[in-house]
Amino acid sequence: MTITPAVSIVVPVYNEEATLPALFTRLYPALDALGCAYEVIFVNDGSRDRSAALLREQFQRRPDVTRVVLFNANYGQHTAIIAGFERCRGDQVVTLDADLQNPPEEIGKLLAAMRDGHDYVGGIRRMRADSWWRRWASRAMNRLRERITRIRMTDQGCMLRAYSRDIVDAVAASREVSTFIPALAYTFASRPTEIEVEHEERIAGVSKYSFYKLIRLNFDLVTGFSLVPLQMFSMFGMAVSALAIAMYVIVILYRLFFAPWEGMVNVFWDRDILAFFLIGMVLFGLGLVGEYVGRIYQQVRDRPRYTIRAVLERDEAADVPAVAPRATEIARSDS
Ligand code: UDP
Ligand code: MG
Repeated sequence: MTITPAVSIVVPVYNEEATLPALFTRLYPALDALGCAYEVIFVNDGSRDRSAALLREQFQRRPDVTRVVLFNANYGQHTAIIAGFERCRGDQVVTLDADLQNPPEEIGKLLAAMRDGHDYVGGIRRMRADSWWRRWASRAMNRLRERITRIRMTDQGCMLRAYSRDIVDAVAASREVSTFIPALAYTFASRPTEIEVEHEERIAGVSKYSFYKLIRLNFDLVTGFSLVPLQMFSMFGMAVSALAIAMYVIVILYRLFFAPWEGMVNVFWDRDILAFFLIGMVLFGLGLVGEYVGRIYQQVRDRPRYTIRAVLERDEAADVPAVAPRATEIARSDS
């Protein structure tokens, strides 16, 4: 007899062969200790190392509570989580990184907050164990996001979060191509809350986010949830025009009446530097418009967000606990 799990854990995995064994030995005991029916869904995001093989082994060890989705290419952490959301069955869904930076022992705290009636529980990394420039950049981005979107959260980068079934369904039904799950889910939450969670250093392997990927991710966050950047450019354009007119009036008045001021205006008036500044702003604005247009283009093409090579899960129809694992081959995702 199959029990529908109360809690689903969704773990995106990309080239994590070095951390997976340690994750398995800590995650499963932590979940067993919760004393409720659970399932763990690993989404292998096109790893090129042995991650897929390790996940397959783990599935064979614990087929009752493990499911594995294998992508055929790398589609990114947030797309991997969406694939997990589309398949998980729990009433409460927790997302977790595979590198043990989010201690699995903290899951109980998130679930306790959900029992208090919250439908969205965000984590705030206490003593974040990352490099100083990552912490600094995160703080700046958190502040920017706080200003230009309606999303209120303290630590947007923390992926240790719990979501209710309703929110997970809404996220899975969203047709967005490149998105930022904690923010998207927040827009569907009615009683969000946040709690402090521990954060540890990556136990092995390296971060899968290069500087470039981090910038791309932050564009997903900003352009996905706000039009303010576009509006800022109209504002900036208007301000520059107003300033230019004021400057023109000043210069003309000066020439007419205050010739002795010779040089005063020139001190602040270097046409070349100002021109370079303006050209820089214009190019940035153009690029920004391109970010939005590119996203619209991706969206209207409406390709599948990811393709799946295989799903490893127990044959529910057979309904026999010890049945040999079966791989469901799916040509491509229908969503
Ligand atoms: N990840 C993924 N696809 C990617 C990049 C990362 O599934 O393209 C996973 C990765 O395996 C890990 C999680 O997302 O489980 C967070 O990645 P990482 O620890 O490298 O990011 P950081 O902690 O440095 O922000
Ligand atoms: Mg990490």
